[in-house]
Amino acid sequence: MLFLDFLRETGLIKSECICHKCNSPMKFAAKNSLSDGYSWICRKSTNNKVCGATKTIRHGSWFTCSKLRLGEIFMLTFEIILGSATSEIGQTYSFSSATLADWSQFINEVILDYVENNSEKIGGAGKIVEVDESKFGKRKYHRGHAVEGQWVFGGVERGSGKLFTTFF
Ligand SMILES: [Zn+2]
Repeated sequence: MLFLDFLRETGLIKSECICHKCNSPMKFAAKNSLSDGYSWICRKSTNNKVCGATKTIRHGSWFTCSKLRLGEIFMLTFEIILGSATSEIGQTYSFSSATLADWSQFINEVILDYVENNSEKIGGAGKIVEVDESKFGKRKYHRGHAVEGQWVFGGVERGSGKLFTTFF
């Protein structure tokens, strides 16, 4: 439960959920039949009838659309962002190479999207800009197959952390 509290507090999963059927606030309830251990459930009662609608706690989060356990996705994401070698991650957590390739690609795409959307004009007198280029396969979140890579040129302004990217 500690881990789920952490996910809710940091907003990695929703901390509140509204029922899609009756618009009432749903309850975060234990559900042993699920690997997540919990589920959102609506206990709103109208005319002696309980709504009973349920929703996965992954709803609208980073963890949707995966068969891996929450903890596995969390560690996998953490290690990939940290820059750990995929061979090492695979050995430590016993993920298949397909899972690793898939998630590395997905995380790269999400980071690229973020950088693209937050790209701005940087540099100028007295500013130091660190630049780098890298090849990324851009697929737009369609996990499952490899694609041709695209070159990305990017830079970060030292101090402010402002960034830019260009695709070529
Ligand atoms: Zn409801």
